Amino acid sequence: MPFPLFDAPPREPSAFVGFAGNIIDRQSEKRGDDDVSLALDDPATRVIVSGGGRIVLAQEDRGFRPFFKPMHAAALGARLEGAVLLGRDETGPLVAAPADITADLPAGFKAIDHRSVYVQGLIDPDALGALAQGAALLAWHASHRFCGRCGAETTMKAGGYKRACPACKAEHFPRTDPVAIMLAVTPDKCLLGRSPHFAPGMFSALAGFIEPGETIENAVRRETFEESGIRVGRVAYHASQPWPFPYSLMIGCFAEALSEELLPDLSELEACRWFGRDEVKAIIAGTHPDGIVVPPSGAIAAHLIKAWAAD
Ligand SMILES: [Zn+2]
Repeated sequence: MPFPLFDAPPREPSAFVGFAGNIIDRQSEKRGDDDVSLALDDPATRVIVSGGGRIVLAQEDRGFRPFFKPMHAAALGARLEGAVLLGRDETGPLVAAPADITADLPAGFKAIDHRSVYVQGLIDPDALGALAQGAALLAWHASHRFCGRCGAETTMKAGGYKRACPACKAEHFPRTDPVAIMLAVTPDKCLLGRSPHFAPGMFSALAGFIEPGETIENAVRRETFEESGIRVGRVAYHASQPWPFPYSLMIGCFAEALSEELLPDLSELEACRWFGRDEVKAIIAGTHPDGIVVPPSGAIAAHLIKAWAAD
């Protein structure tokens, strides 16, 4: 008999967002310090080449391929000595390597920024999950070369899942920065805001970093109030999304609005207002008279907005 608390949908909502479709077996309990070099000697190994917020893709007949043999990855600029092991899938080990990606890649290869790869759906969803894992890990290594305790240069261990300090013996682990992204709702309206850097016409759910010592729910209440002046009561978790810019986890929630009078923080938001359900349905359908749009379909904000509009 199923446990009643687990009366969940057959696929959890997080499975539908971009960057989430990661099928890699991380084998986190078995990571050894020589794992990357062993993987690079394995003929089945494939390498993601990533640098400066972009990855290298090979143009093929039906789309793009993000994986290369180690030798080919090196020829495309990958620094294999800085590679990290993502884990294994049914084909073999998967590795991500940092690269100085130059403008003059050989014909048939392109360097494309992570956001475009995801928004334009250039690679299959499983590979998008591997991209997020590799990009986040490589970004952390790039900014944590030196020991935060004593300043000595640290070395990579455990296939890239640790850095160790030879001087003071401190160990440093990759971080994930939690961000709350929330849709404040009343029975018939939801709250959307617009940052100055958004594409023209775009509105989205409000969001902000969760601070040390704060629950997800309290972060949702604090950020919603700071950005919009709206007081929030109950908070319900909906879905999460790995967000490799550089290493966040977006935690998507619905928030019960207790007030409706807006007092937006105009230093953060260019605009912030309530949208009725019919208006949101028109936005989703692409028929809003003012050309208002919401983020692309893989974004967790889009999932929150669509789930609310449909219910
Ligand atoms: Zn140290």
